[in-house]
Amino acid sequence: MEHQQPSSEEQSPARKRLIIASNNAGKLREFKELLSPYGFDVISMREAGFNEEIVEDGDTFEENAHIKARAVFEATGEPTIADDSGLEIDFLNGAPGVYSARYAGENATDKDRCNKVLSEMHGVARELRDARFVCTIHFIYAEDDEYSVRGEVNGYIGDKPKGKNGFGYDPIFMVNDDDSMADISEEEKNKISHRAMAFKKLSEILKEKFS
Ligand code: IMP
Repeated sequence: MEHQQPSSEEQSPARKRLIIASNNAGKLREFKELLSPYGFDVISMREAGFNEEIVEDGDTFEENAHIKARAVFEATGEPTIADDSGLEIDFLNGAPGVYSARYAGENATDKDRCNKVLSEMHGVARELRDARFVCTIHFIYAEDDEYSVRGEVNGYIGDKPKGKNGFGYDPIFMVNDDDSMADISEEEKNKISHRAMAFKKLSEILKEKFS
């Protein structure tokens, strides 16, 4: 009888589970790619048996990422990563900020949220339209061994939606005078985005700690 190949987990007994405090398939895929070179098997919080609702009531992106990572870490005792992201507009004193996902109410669409921002920015001069996307990541490896990183990309709010790619506020976020974040390719966005910047900072920490 032919000998069965061991699974990759059996081949590498040193591999460690790492939980992403999210059930979003896209996020999990990105984190899997980033973390697997460091010997982590990335799983969602559902796969880790965590099904509770987490109340994200922090005032900052950092606080919300911390709240999510802490809730899952306390319940499972396993290394956990959480992220939080959104759009900050200077003219609106940082809004939508931590309310980015629910800025136009619970059942609103991306289009509704973009339109709400556009109407709040109606007639505002270009030099007052500066904005940034922010992504924070909180990593709890063990009790008293945790890290927080922030990535940002600067731009400004256009006066109408533009472009067909991306999601969320991308069509109203101008990365230069010609292109919105929804005009550029996914590949290009993955080089410049707030998430890419936060990932870069996290990988520097991982490299230092685990290579
Ligand atoms: P969360 O971090 O998954 O809670 O996302 C918060 C909200 O911020 C999303 O629902 C989007 O509205 C907005 N957002 C976060 N990242 C992006 C982005 O890359 N493009 C456009 N909107 C984003």
